[in-house]
Amino acid sequence: MKIPFNKPYMTGKELGYISEAHAKGQLSGDGEFTRRCSAWLEQRTGCDKALLTHSCTAALEMSAILSNLGPGDEVIMPSYTFVSTANAFVLRGAVPVFVDIRSDTLNLDETKIEQAITDRTRAIVPMHYAGVACEMDAIMEIARRHGLTVIEDAAQGIMSAYKGRPLGSIGHMGTLSFHETKNIISGEGGAILLNGEQQARRAEIIREKGTNRKAFFRGEVDKYSWVDIGSSFLPSDMIAAYLWAQMEEAEAITRRRLVMWDTYHRELEALEAQGLLRRPVIPEACRHNAHMYYILLPSAEKRSLLMDYLRSKGINTVFHYVPLHSSEMGSMHGRPAGSLDQTTDLAARLLRLPLWLGMEEHMDEVIQEIRSGLSRTR
Ligand SMILES: *Cc1c(COP(=O)(O)O)cnc(C)c1O
Repeated sequence: MKIPFNKPYMTGKELGYISEAHAKGQLSGDGEFTRRCSAWLEQRTGCDKALLTHSCTAALEMSAILSNLGPGDEVIMPSYTFVSTANAFVLRGAVPVFVDIRSDTLNLDETKIEQAITDRTRAIVPMHYAGVACEMDAIMEIARRHGLTVIEDAAQGIMSAYKGRPLGSIGHMGTLSFHETKNIISGEGGAILLNGEQQARRAEIIREKGTNRKAFFRGEVDKYSWVDIGSSFLPSDMIAAYLWAQMEEAEAITRRRLVMWDTYHRELEALEAQGLLRRPVIPEACRHNAHMYYILLPSAEKRSLLMDYLRSKGINTVFHYVPLHSSEMGSMHGRPAGSLDQTTDLAARLLRLPLWLGMEEHMDEVIQEIRSGLSRTR
């Protein structure tokens, strides 16, 4: 492909920091670079504690343990999301309850949450699609009324905000991803953001194989032992070294992505006016991070035609997600609450356009080919 869908961006400082960690002999987790990255996250998001993990999936698994979920407990989430949003809870025996999405942002429809609540409901997992926030005020209010835990899947949401509050820091906890397809990367990587002192303490233990190793090193306890369930969720400090190089550039990376996002948005406006596609909607309350530019075609068939046309021109576009309720595992372990018509419809018509640092020079060509492709298939 001449223009791939994604190409990971490297700042140029990654290897230098990795060799620093290497030279210090800091190979395991929680060294100097991990400390810098967590401090950066705490400072930027205002959460009480940020802990690096080896993926957002791992952070979601930690959140399921922290929420004390057990067999039969229900967790409300969208069906239009990545597998890990549900899998992390299924691993605890909990039941994902799938609620439909809003047609504007493709986020969990907050007006349909309450009707999905039963006496087994324990948590709500809003996923901020494309780094555009869910309606968090309404979601937090529902959770407060029903005594539910809110876990934000902010995998795509670094540097985004809702009413000025950074994503991942609004709920009781939130998770971030630094996978190579996200905005700020370390290959594989993630973090859990925690609010509340007690929960932060417990998260440290769960992340360190269920031991109080961290408290021991701080001199708070005189021996280190097995005190909770847990696993090994922490990344090597060499991965944190890679991530630190990216965090230093996070502002600049986001700015450059936003310029490309805005270019797509401006140049595709006329096609939207002609009814050939629909562009993303960013609500007033949201500041987004240009994680993704997608378009919605009028039908699934039109999507395939455009995708094939673009591929023939060397431009790679992709779509996602297979709605979880329609997947084999989703229908076995979860259940839908109400109609999922928006989910089914939108998932079939969405197309993601390439957006990566360095493709600035290709933007005109991609936009031009979308115009040509749509005029041939109308
Ligand atoms: C990428 C992503 C994940 C998984 O992140 P990993 O770091 O790869 O585990 C989870 N949820 C959503 C919504 C994602 O986009």
